[in-house]
Amino acid sequence: MLAKSSDLLENITRLLRDPRLFREQAYVNGRWCSASGGAVAEVTNPATGAVIGTVPDMDADATRQAIEAAARAWPAWRSKLPQERGRILRRWGDLMLEHRKDLAILMTVEQGKPLAESRGEIDYAASFIDWYAEEGRRLNVESVTPHLPNCSMVVRREPVGVTAAVTPWNFPSAMITRKAAAALAAGCPMIVRPALETPYSALALAELGERAGIPAGIFSVVTGQPEAIVGEMCANPTVRALSFTGSTAVGRRLLAQSAGTVKKMSMELGGHAPFILYPDVPLDNAVAAAIAAKFATTGQDCLAANRIYVHRRIHDSFVAAFTKAAAALRCGNGLDEATDLGPLMHRRAVAKCREHVEDAVAKGARLMTGGGGDPRLGGLFFQPTVLAGVTPDMLIYREETFGPVAAIIPFDDGDGDDDVAAMANDSEYGLAAYVFTNDHRRIQHLTSRLDYGMIAVNRVKLTGAPIPFGGVKQSGLGREGGRMGIEEFTEVKYLCLAA
Ligand code: NAD
Repeated sequence: MLAKSSDLLENITRLLRDPRLFREQAYVNGRWCSASGGAVAEVTNPATGAVIGTVPDMDADATRQAIEAAARAWPAWRSKLPQERGRILRRWGDLMLEHRKDLAILMTVEQGKPLAESRGEIDYAASFIDWYAEEGRRLNVESVTPHLPNCSMVVRREPVGVTAAVTPWNFPSAMITRKAAAALAAGCPMIVRPALETPYSALALAELGERAGIPAGIFSVVTGQPEAIVGEMCANPTVRALSFTGSTAVGRRLLAQSAGTVKKMSMELGGHAPFILYPDVPLDNAVAAAIAAKFATTGQDCLAANRIYVHRRIHDSFVAAFTKAAAALRCGNGLDEATDLGPLMHRRAVAKCREHVEDAVAKGARLMTGGGGDPRLGGLFFQPTVLAGVTPDMLIYREETFGPVAAIIPFDDGDGDDDVAAMANDSEYGLAAYVFTNDHRRIQHLTSRLDYGMIAVNRVKLTGAPIPFGGVKQSGLGREGGRMGIEEFTEVKYLCLAA
């Protein structure tokens, strides 16, 4: 049972230096608004189960109005100089950093992640705004050497038009700015539908966007159940690009739903990252890296190292040290600075962790630590868990657990390094992979064999504003960040001009 807690609500506004960042209305066409008929959806704190507050449960009509308002606002926004858009964006990013602590508290309360991770996400989210504030002015830098006589040829990148974003709850701020900063810098308006679990981070971004001077209609946030809002975004022909981050299952559905309006689709979907470890890496470094790659955001990360392949020669010592480090991670409320792992987001996520552990153990895996909830903390917590001896017939080998369960798989030298590459590629996903070895021949070989959009070698963190983030196979379409990220929100126009 969830407790309706006015206490928590008071706590949030008391915790914030600027309580106006906690908004319980949607933001459409520069106005804060409720749903027609006053429908609302409750938002809960996953660490406590308490209701934080409500947000409007908007419908397809409200979404259509947001789209139409964006279309009206578009001509003035696209005709601004990119430097002018950049100035507004830079103010937006600066305001995020100025309010970093408050934004992190809001995120931790609605998402559950430890405050340090929330602060890190705010910095990361703001970095996209900062970067695209500059990149907008570099969109048109190509020209064509004519292949026909007496003419000049010009290729222009122009803003695609009204854009829409559908974002997940695991990175409530960064998944929005990675899309919105690129779209706005390209000269497009964007309507965001944030996950219903974490709308307050999105609404705080809208509040700061308003203060930064983003014109009405250029950045709207429509809250509510997904089907009506996202259904309208897909079916409405005025929306010319739709950018989605979330599961592969929902991504497939949105691709199908958008087929009738042939729009640009960018899809950042699931991942099932392999982490390949050779014996020439110092054990302590390898353990610290694998812990970070697996347990950040309580494992609810598309980049999480879900299959940890360890060379047989160091396998047992790695398992022992990794288990010890995992068992030492502290679960708790993210507002407590001592917390390493926050709660999971849903009961079904806890059930999936349990199912993956039980299935693996029944098929012969060894449970090294964890394996269940933590009764002291409440229903959404799951202990950091390590399974050794994981094999391809187990659910955890095939599916994203999206929780704090690590799967360790031994490998042998076999046929060069092709065996471990083949094992790592044996997945429908292809988002990120990690390789740990100091052997340059191996690095060359594996990085060319691995079917992944992003590969980190001897390090874990690989993301950031300038790089093309994205995956191959069922992990998605298109790239976010960097130059490619802004191009997703443009169309190419070719002009052939007689001399
Ligand atoms: P999800 O697909 O359930 O939800 C994502 C968004 O889609 C949410 O806003 C949700 O409300 C909405 N949605 C859900 N059902 C819908 C429907 N029927 N129609 C329209 N919209 C719908 O995913 P999630 O659980 O929020 O996020 C976890 C997934 O996201 C994982 O698979 C993870 O790997 C992936 N992810 C990918 C990236 C990336 O950049 N590749 C980043 C973060 C998360």
